[in-house]
Amino acid sequence: MERREFLTAGAGLALALAGASCSLRERAAKQRPNILFIFSDDHAVQSIGACGSVINTTPNIDRLAGEGVTFDRCFCANSICAPSRASILTGKHSHANGKKTNGDTFDIGQTLFPALMQQAGYATALIGKWHLRAEPRGFDHWEILPGQGSYYNPDFMTAEGTVRREGYVTEIITDRSLDWLRNRPGPERPFLLMCQHKAPHRVWAPGPGQLDLYREGEIPEPETLFDTWDDRVEMLKENEMTIARHLMYDYDLKVPGLNRPDALGRDFKNPEYARMTPAQRDRWDAAYKQENDAFRSMNLSGKALVRWKYQRYIKDYLRCVAAVDESVGRLLDYLDETGLAGNTIVVYSSDQGFYLGEHGWYDKRWMYEESFRMPFLIRWPGHAAAGTRTAALSQNIDFAPTFLDAAGIRIPGEMQGMSLLPLLRGRTPGGWRDALYYHYYEKGEHNVPPHEGARDRRYKLIHYYEQDLWELFDLETDPRELHNRYRDPAYGDIAARMHTTLDRLKKQYAVPEE
Ligand code: CA
Repeated sequence: MERREFLTAGAGLALALAGASCSLRERAAKQRPNILFIFSDDHAVQSIGACGSVINTTPNIDRLAGEGVTFDRCFCANSICAPSRASILTGKHSHANGKKTNGDTFDIGQTLFPALMQQAGYATALIGKWHLRAEPRGFDHWEILPGQGSYYNPDFMTAEGTVRREGYVTEIITDRSLDWLRNRPGPERPFLLMCQHKAPHRVWAPGPGQLDLYREGEIPEPETLFDTWDDRVEMLKENEMTIARHLMYDYDLKVPGLNRPDALGRDFKNPEYARMTPAQRDRWDAAYKQENDAFRSMNLSGKALVRWKYQRYIKDYLRCVAAVDESVGRLLDYLDETGLAGNTIVVYSSDQGFYLGEHGWYDKRWMYEESFRMPFLIRWPGHAAAGTRTAALSQNIDFAPTFLDAAGIRIPGEMQGMSLLPLLRGRTPGGWRDALYYHYYEKGEHNVPPHEGARDRRYKLIHYYEQDLWELFDLETDPRELHNRYRDPAYGDIAARMHTTLDRLKKQYAVPEE
């Protein structure tokens, strides 16, 4: 269905509501879909079964793929936590919503899709990670983690004050979300619930229920675990996000007392351990002690040491993902049990991707595929063609227009994204976007230089503007992005075309020069 038809349907509903009797209005309101937005932090598509993972399974997230549509080319506008969240709430690129870095102040007074839904009569709730340094607006109910939040016995900020809840964060956020669904005021009203997990963000602290997963065997390594960053811009070699040199023993790898700092001379304490109850600590120690003792006695070095660190890192990451997947299962089961599933849009997404050892890295930020891509799976019975995929280019600025469109609410002209609803039926409308704009601004941790770029269906152009250096990748012949073709004469025409594309996108989105 074309976007225009959806808008017409929404306008028609509004007209009908204006003239309808109370009971009719209630009935029409009931037909507006509920939206359950299940969101996680740093969950890369390489660790989602339905997206082709070779390192884990996610049976519950995969249910959404089987019953809905998987977006295989969904990307963020800026691969870092708070800016991605700001783009989702506003439907705008970072320069337009003002949240370019995690440290920037976010203007909470600007147009936010949850506030528009609340005004239109939706019951709205936000539970979990928020990370925008401003009191949430547009929610009837909110309880959020302060900042990054904690995995164990997390604090939650609410309108009434801060409370500490004992337990594991992913389970608590799920419990609180289910609790709100069960007891939400005005159950005849459609709802928007944003269930936003902390996991699997660093420091990848698994819950008691997942600590023993992956105990046996090894997780396959990515092809580029030992990338030496040749044939690309020189600054790549100055990155500070390597598994080899920058993961800290105590903080990240859960091996305390080694007195072997990382390349920057750091080895902070793992912040979760200090928060645990004695019983939680016993459980944690029992899970890691034997492996840690063996590690200490082996005195590994070189590639063997990197391999050990990779296994510890990826196993903890996947343990955190497993709890998120369980959460999705519990929420979907609730919708089934209560009969809400038929009229509820369920989305699973995460604020950006992540390096799971690719290029030798953890973390995100660079415009390379692993951290640029986002998971986006959507189920809407009767509207989204079950078990289908789309390769149309989509971006997190599209989420707000999509949700408003589904709710029959006019999409504000200031939003820069487009409703994805037309894609749900498996047909890409003529004139759909042919390229995406990206811009990473932060100068800080991990030493990633600011850069911007354009990606079309096959090529990617990146500009490190402070150094005025360029990269051009051919994603068809070089999907791992190991060879910069920018100065390759064979790619001269492509480079020129991608320059034009980038200029056009910057004009379209009114991007100021940095
Ligand atoms: Ca994140």
